[in-house]
Amino acid sequence: MSSAHPDAPLRRLTLTEVFAAFEAMHGGEHWHWTPETPPFEIMAGAVLVQRAAWTNAERALDRLRAAGALSPEGVLALPVAALEELVRPAGFFRTKARKLRALASAVQEHGGLDAFLGSPPEELRARLLAVWGIGPETADAILLYAAKQPAFVADAYAARVFRRLGLGPDRDSYDAWQAWFVRQLPVDPALWARLHALIVLHGKRRCRKRQPRCADCLLLGRCPGAITAPERGLP
Ligand code: SF4
Repeated sequence: MSSAHPDAPLRRLTLTEVFAAFEAMHGGEHWHWTPETPPFEIMAGAVLVQRAAWTNAERALDRLRAAGALSPEGVLALPVAALEELVRPAGFFRTKARKLRALASAVQEHGGLDAFLGSPPEELRARLLAVWGIGPETADAILLYAAKQPAFVADAYAARVFRRLGLGPDRDSYDAWQAWFVRQLPVDPALWARLHALIVLHGKRRCRKRQPRCADCLLLGRCPGAITAPERGLP
């Protein structure tokens, strides 16, 4: 990739400018989690979407819901084989069934959903990270969307999009990206959830991993990582 305007240095974008552009491009688009989404649905979705498209995770969630199993008790009440069958559309169904059971067990061991999610944020994050199959990104998604705690989800979409925009930390680790965002934003879980949603939408709709749709991106003229049509061999 090369600069869209090689003759004139681009002024570095601010986060405010980037998010204003994301809002203008994606503000009206559907996001799967709202403040009304039941917390365990968010938790299960955060597990099921690992290495899967959201549409497939959603199919698994629909099946769990229809089976009355979209709760910690419901997950634990199912025989393992039945749970695996329900989550099959999300892929890696044996692993994901095991993760869901581990998560549901952790919730029940800590007094149920309200008590679990009501734990102090650092405690909750540590408990989530102690669950088999839950890493920082899934833990932070649960903290942010289900517990409504300030945990910025610095996922692969964020790293890709912001790196192309010429922004970001020196290192590319999850922790480095998370710290980079947190340092610049007011502590506001609702805002962080909104920004994360906008980043993911932008990463899916425009700033795709392969063949980003730069011609349709409002940041084209300010983005050092933009791919212009001639570079792609397009007319
Ligand atoms: S879609 Fe293109 S112009 Fe827009 S942020 Fe991504 S690389 Fe930059």
